[in-house]
Amino acid sequence: MLFPTTTNEMPEPILPFPCEENVPLSVVGYYAIGGRARWFARPRSVSELAGVLDWCRGVRLPVIVAGKGSNMLFSDEDFPGVVIFTGGMNRMFWVSEHELFCEAGVENTDVAIALQKAGRSGGEWLYRLPGMIGATVRMNGRCYGEEISAVTMGIVTAGLDGTIRWHRKEEVFLGYKQTSLMQSPEIVVGALLEFPESMDPEAIGQKMQEYGNDRDAKHQFDFPCCGSTFKNSYEVGRPSGQIFDSLGFRGRREGGAQVSDHHANFIFNIGGATAVDVLKLAGAMRTAAREQAGADLELELQCAGLFDASLLEECGIASIPEPSRPGFAWAGLLHSHEDGKASFPRILLQGPMLDYSGDDLKFPDGITVKVEQLAPLSEAHLDPGGPFIRWTTQDASGKSFPQRPEAPGGSFVDNLWKYGVSELFIGDGGSGTSYLEFEITPDGQWVALRFNAPRIRASGHEMLSESLWAESLMMFTSSSGFGMELSFALLEPFIQDGRVKLQCCASPGEQRYGLFPWWHAPGTPDFHQPARFCPVRLV
Ligand SMILES: Cc1cc2nc3c(=O)[nH]c(=O)nc-3n(C[C@H](O)[C@H](O)[C@H](O)COP(=O)(O)OP(=O)(O)OC[C@H]3O[C@@H](n4cnc5c(N)ncnc54)[C@H](O)[C@@H]3O)c2cc1C
Repeated sequence: MLFPTTTNEMPEPILPFPCEENVPLSVVGYYAIGGRARWFARPRSVSELAGVLDWCRGVRLPVIVAGKGSNMLFSDEDFPGVVIFTGGMNRMFWVSEHELFCEAGVENTDVAIALQKAGRSGGEWLYRLPGMIGATVRMNGRCYGEEISAVTMGIVTAGLDGTIRWHRKEEVFLGYKQTSLMQSPEIVVGALLEFPESMDPEAIGQKMQEYGNDRDAKHQFDFPCCGSTFKNSYEVGRPSGQIFDSLGFRGRREGGAQVSDHHANFIFNIGGATAVDVLKLAGAMRTAAREQAGADLELELQCAGLFDASLLEECGIASIPEPSRPGFAWAGLLHSHEDGKASFPRILLQGPMLDYSGDDLKFPDGITVKVEQLAPLSEAHLDPGGPFIRWTTQDASGKSFPQRPEAPGGSFVDNLWKYGVSELFIGDGGSGTSYLEFEITPDGQWVALRFNAPRIRASGHEMLSESLWAESLMMFTSSSGFGMELSFALLEPFIQDGRVKLQCCASPGEQRYGLFPWWHAPGTPDFHQPARFCPVRLV
């Protein structure tokens, strides 16, 4: 990998999103260690995040994703890429009495407080567990006998190519502090958490307080640190802290880094520690555990940036050498493993509809959507009339679209928005404002429109007409859902630099609206906002 390694070598691209420059990572992470990040992005929504990722890919910049940095060791070297901070995506709302949807940037403590307010038990342990829910899901965080996997129903992730996907918990959680996300470049953007038990808020508060007090009693917050440095090894049969204790590591020092006097698996920054200090100490601990206690321990602390390769190796961290700096290697960057290896159908968007306004409406009732690319771009050119995008809506309850038009199934119907419909918007993949809108009902009544700008119909599309579309799309309704297949010829004018912008919506009627990917906008719901559609890369 050859990334620019000094500020001078950086290209000077124009950033399409608000971003801070030259941000010291020492003020970002818990460790108070780290060089400067050339760019520091704070996306506030899934589509902004996808836009940031798309831009990073276009200008070939390395990417690091960070939550609160309570489990991250940033390199002492300046980082020449973009650190994406997830804290701007911090909405949380109840989608049913016991299901809480949290964006990645919601803090663990705030989840616990929301649960206490609602009188739901099962999340007390999240109180004063440093960090945000996105990383806690990624790390399968745990404490006090509880684990995030036990209360997670599903996870929404963003791929580096802007694809947004819902994962069942079984696909993600792989056991003690292991998830599939730790091996993949996907960013958690939200998680659906489930708390079936109710409890008196006062009793919940008491439990939270006990856990918080326990952390204080164990001196966890005495100095900047990232909690446990190494995972436990169940094969060894005793906690890593005990192993380091027996090896005499309590109080051991390296520069400004010191093993806690109270917990031999915690390394503190007692003042002026560098990442090199922490890694030297961690490397010595790991080597001693292996050689003297027969314990092969895995670092829990996540390293991010450019480091001395031998230190990474001593700590057992996978890395990628930097050719321009012999002896140095990258850790903790998000990489695409899939370039050139895509299989079809390829999921572009998939997930549950979420309420448009986030006002704790009990919506959705199991409406999920999926948009798939059916063929590679290179082949689609050869068969422009063939199906290229498939859009499917599933209504698990069969009752979420109660308002049905009288027209027979398969009819082209004007004013279809008055009924329960699923909608797909496809926006111009560049900075343009043109877009397509498709609407369909579970019975296959449909309508399609083309716009030049929000609600401004394109010329030739002033009057709705089935004949403008009939050749380019095909309806389907089946037990697996209802939807449309759209031809490449129809999509081609909207594909720019291999990218389109997508947005799924649903209007079950009754003044209720859903979105996937979701976003928040106060006031009257209006889906016709192409600037908010999610940029997704086709391959
Ligand atoms: C004093 C102290 C005590 C702790 N005690 C515990 C404990 O009891 N149990 C426990 O499990 N942990 C504990 N930790 C570690 C920490 O609380 C958890 O790992 C937490 O989940 C990290 O959240 P974060 O937002 O700070 O993540 P970060 O440190 O910012 O990130 C952690 C890793 O996840 C990646 N990441 C961050 N956000 C995302 C995202 N949205 N999608 C994909 N990847 C992402 C980062 O690149 C990094 O690799 C403790 C830490 C401290 C400082």
